[in-house]
Amino acid sequence: MRVIFLGPPGSGKGTQAKRLQQTQSIPQVSTGDLLRKAVREGTALGREAKGYMDAGGLVPDRLVIDLLLERIGESDCSHGFILDGFPRTVAQAEALEEALQARSKPIDAVVNFEIDPAKLVERLVGRRVCPQGHGEWHVQFNPPRSEGHCDVCGAALIQREDDHEDRIRARMEAYRKDTEPLIGYYRQRGLLHDVDALAAMEAVAGQIEAAVTGGH
Ligand code: AMP
Repeated sequence: MRVIFLGPPGSGKGTQAKRLQQTQSIPQVSTGDLLRKAVREGTALGREAKGYMDAGGLVPDRLVIDLLLERIGESDCSHGFILDGFPRTVAQAEALEEALQARSKPIDAVVNFEIDPAKLVERLVGRRVCPQGHGEWHVQFNPPRSEGHCDVCGAALIQREDDHEDRIRARMEAYRKDTEPLIGYYRQRGLLHDVDALAAMEAVAGQIEAAVTGGH
């Protein structure tokens, strides 16, 4: 099963992707995570991407597309994947469609996380992440078991550089301008399933399962 999660920053894509990867046994592929890893490792790609990311803008298509296509060509993606944060532009969507068509492995479903933009800032400023990439929590809506520490490795949780309010506004603007057109793109192809991203986490998970397993 090949699924895309589409939605603005802070709409819960990452959290839900982690759940779905367990129930469906397919990997979550997050271009944000791949880029942050490249930044941590100081690769040429990471050095080029960092400025765009810290400012809350999009990393250029030519960098992100290659990174993503390489990742989904790895063996653990052969039975499917959940794309979390890709595509973010029409050019990315077209490149993905072309590559998957060539492999005769098209996208099965696109889940559109619908949410009131006013709620997003609140969600993002309270987000805390594990510096080792084990996941994310929220100080109010999804606190870790031990305050301020990762449930998996115990490391002190941190606030992402781009989760500060001014950067959040820039990311929202990038979403509105570059990513929102993908809603029409995938609706036209009959692939889009809307979910109410403001519902309780369990309810959102239920809507997603129904959408991707054809029960909706
Ligand atoms: P995320 O973790 O998905 O919020 O991504 C964090 C940052 O990585 C974004 O604000 C962008 O700067 C960059 N990024 C992640 N995915 C993409 C993408 N598909 N296209 C362009 N930039 C991306």
